[in-house]
Amino acid sequence: MRVMAQTAMVMTLDKCIGCHTCSVTCKQAWTNRAGTEYVWFNNVETRPGQGYPRRYEDQEKWRGGWTLNRRGNLQLKSGNRLQKLFGIFASPVQPELDDYYEPWTYDYENLVASPATDDFPVARPKSLITGKDTKVEWSANWDDSLGGTANTDEQDPVLQKIREQSEEQIRLEFEKTFMFYLPRICEHCLNPSCMASCPSGAIYKRSEDGIVLVDQDRCRGWRQCITGCPYKKIYYNHKSGKAEKCTFCYPRVEVGIPTVCAETCVGRMRYIGIFLYDADRVTEAAATPDEKDLYEAQLDILLDPNDPEVQRAARAEGIPEDWLEAAKKSPVYTLAKELKVALPLHPEYRTMPMVWYVPPLSPIVDLLRGQGHDGEDADVLFGAIDSLRIPVEYLAELFTAGDTDVVTNVLRKLAAMRSYMRDLTLGQDPDESIAEAVG
Ligand code: SF4
Ligand code: SF4
Repeated sequence: MRVMAQTAMVMTLDKCIGCHTCSVTCKQAWTNRAGTEYVWFNNVETRPGQGYPRRYEDQEKWRGGWTLNRRGNLQLKSGNRLQKLFGIFASPVQPELDDYYEPWTYDYENLVASPATDDFPVARPKSLITGKDTKVEWSANWDDSLGGTANTDEQDPVLQKIREQSEEQIRLEFEKTFMFYLPRICEHCLNPSCMASCPSGAIYKRSEDGIVLVDQDRCRGWRQCITGCPYKKIYYNHKSGKAEKCTFCYPRVEVGIPTVCAETCVGRMRYIGIFLYDADRVTEAAATPDEKDLYEAQLDILLDPNDPEVQRAARAEGIPEDWLEAAKKSPVYTLAKELKVALPLHPEYRTMPMVWYVPPLSPIVDLLRGQGHDGEDADVLFGAIDSLRIPVEYLAELFTAGDTDVVTNVLRKLAAMRSYMRDLTLGQDPDESIAEAVG
């Protein structure tokens, strides 16, 4: 057992209100420079939606992450080592500016300096890249606006179809719609494919805390890392010609303060902590044959920080005492490993991502219609996980490579907690059998 420490984050999705404060404060701190206009180390995407950059989850197209070769060994999806060697001379497969979005600002000068007239001046969007007027045709969170219709064409077949439906039919359709927000940063993976893709060896994972960084002096701008990262969380600075990525705010973390995104989160939805893990078993876990077992494999290499044997091994690796103490109190360990309510994003990419998510517990569509609350009663919730507005299958696609049983268990635990806390809040005796029911 080779014990290493990993800084990690858990995000509780029910608490994200999509305000983007995290993205803006991160941008002000890290990517408020020429060459990084389009770059959001932290973004908050609309789900369901295409994400940022759009359709980044299509690994057949972008060839990110790892796959298994015929012998069951890990291989970069963008090619084996020999292909990578020749790949140095090949173009990286990467999203274009339109896939991220063309960064723009308003023509404020025109807005402010226009002389008084009968009409209000128009502030046209101006490209931050070219400085010229531009049309805004795509950006992250474009999906937010797709629920409504700006279409007033009376002949439009979609509008006509809607008009033909009864009010009840429209209401039933509407009740099935859902959305939530998914904030994303670099996953600071245990098995980072960005690092393995870099021909210059410029990307490294810090041994003391697992933060993945780009050595700006060694980076030669090959951009193979952008192909290699399945989460598209490493970016090309078109002014400096180097790759840049989320640093987990290491200058802040080193002096004991949280990342900017966590500190400024309006919903208080982010938890930061330390995992201790067995570094000798990372490759084996990442090569777990069945994708649906990857979540369990990832959990399995996280070590119990209270186990004396783990502590001894950690000391032997030079992990300092204050880190061991912090690992014992780590909320990420409690949420991911002890309570098992936090799940990794797309474990099937086999990079062992270290940002975990507590999935959203949405209202129950069928059972609670007309009752006026979100279903805080455990008996109602337990019997109705299949009728949640956000389908379990959709969450499983994001967090467990399609294993709906794991997601259902998590949602049952969240439902139990909600019910228990509701009883306490109302001054009622909580039903102790609830905890037993979810294990
Ligand atoms: Fe690398 Fe971060 Fe992408 Fe993981 S999520 S592969 S650490 S850039
Ligand atoms: Fe969500 Fe917090 Fe970011 Fe607001 S600041 S969008 S609540 S993660």
